[in-house]
Amino acid sequence: MSSEPMSSEVATTPFAVDLFRGLSGRCPCCGSGRMFRAFLKVSDNCSACGEELHHHRADDFPAYCVIFIVGHLIVPLVLSVETNFAPSYWVHLAIWPPAILALSLGLLQPVKGAIVALQWRLGMHGFADAKRARADNAYVVTHGA
Ligand SMILES: [Zn+2]
Repeated sequence: MSSEPMSSEVATTPFAVDLFRGLSGRCPCCGSGRMFRAFLKVSDNCSACGEELHHHRADDFPAYCVIFIVGHLIVPLVLSVETNFAPSYWVHLAIWPPAILALSLGLLQPVKGAIVALQWRLGMHGFADAKRARADNAYVVTHGA
């Protein structure tokens, strides 16, 4: 019998659950602690389970994704409204900039949370070492040193 922990001994959640936890701004590990300490500042550790979250390297990727999503939502709407109703420019000016701003601000934190959860799930950057250390500690606690 091997003394190494089997991969099946490490509890895993479905990928969709991790992604949903990230989208809702919760810790991808436990789902109850908050991921963010400010609008876009990720907490160093989960307040509930202590999971290290400072390993993320989201950088500009959330902003890129938000631009991509908002662009693909707004541009067809603008073209559709212009084609079907041809409103004045001031109507366009009154509708689209606030819609773009609201969508961008509304999506930025959930998208960043999902990207951090994705990095956590895939073990990118330092997340793999933290998961391995946690699994080793769990193995020692349940099976002895
Ligand atoms: Zn947690």
